[in-house]
Amino acid sequence: MNGTRVTVRCHDCSLATTHDRLRDARTAVDDHESTTGHDVDWTIESVAAGVSKAGADAGVCGRPECANEDSPLVDPTPPEPES
Ligand SMILES: [Zn+2]
Repeated sequence: MNGTRVTVRCHDCSLATTHDRLRDARTAVDDHESTTGHDVDWTIESVAAGVSKAGADAGVCGRPECANEDSPLVDPTPPEPES
C-alpha cells in the first residue's frame, strides 16, 4: 500500500500536518483532540490525484476493476468449441 497521504487540520488552531500512514494520522488527531479539545479534521488523499478524484466522484475505491461495468469479463465471448 503506497501513495497514501493523510492531511490533518485543526479547525481551532493552525495545526496542519501530513502523514503517510492512516494510523499515524489517527494518532495525531486523537492526541490533539484529547490534549486541546479542538475540533480536528482529517482528509485522506492519494499522491495519484486521479485515483482520489475518481473515488470521490463515484464513491468507489477508485480501482478500474471496481468501476468498469463494461468490462469484457461481464459479457464474455462464447467459448470456442474444442476440436
Ligand atoms: Zn488545534
